[in-house]
Amino acid sequence: MPAPAAPHRLRVGLTGGIASGKSTAARAFEALHPGCLVDADAAARAVVAPGSEGLAAVLAAFGEDLRRPDGQLDRAALRQRVFADPAARKQLESLLHPRIRAWMRERAAAASTPLVLLDIPLLTEGGGRAAWPELERILVVDLPPALQRQRLLARDGIDPALAEAMIAAQAPREARLALADDVLVNTGTPEDLAAAVARLAARYLPKG
Ligand code: ADP
Repeated sequence: MPAPAAPHRLRVGLTGGIASGKSTAARAFEALHPGCLVDADAAARAVVAPGSEGLAAVLAAFGEDLRRPDGQLDRAALRQRVFADPAARKQLESLLHPRIRAWMRERAAAASTPLVLLDIPLLTEGGGRAAWPELERILVVDLPPALQRQRLLARDGIDPALAEAMIAAQAPREARLALADDVLVNTGTPEDLAAAVARLAARYLPKG
């Protein structure tokens, strides 16, 4: 007898600008489908964990002094080192991004939920759909820039100029929306967002 076919898992890429509400939306999906979230932040930490190939590659390229006494990568110092140096930043990205993608792909393949949500904050900047051909839907969390700025300021307690610079460093809103199969408009309350997530999840996974 042939082996039973693996159940289909719908792979959805979640993206949006900084402070658009991706993490809030991701938590709402997790509440509906525990275990569905494959988190890019977790991936970014895992690929430079002590003993990893990724950590060895970063230290070889950027200096052994970036290894903290506890063996962890000094991420803050690394960020500082590449902050004002686009070539170094590119080099770092070329070391990390393929590893992050591979880690997320592995996790997505191992997920047992019918819906797998890949949280990819820099999907638009990092090559878009071509870099993630396995995504069946791209879901963008969207809101007007003024509200985005306001939520970023409130969350991170940074000064307005820095908030502006962080938003300007990302892909423009229009470029993100151009990739979207689905959009979560996050202009209401967090409860509104959770309700919109529930509607979308029901649409992604019709019963029967
Ligand atoms: P991202 O993960 O996209 O950076 P977050 O989910 O962290 O964004 O949301 C940014 C900030 O805005 C957080 O402080 C979050 O609690 C808040 N937030 C998110 N959605 C709403 C909403 N609908 N109403 C009010 N605050 C919100």
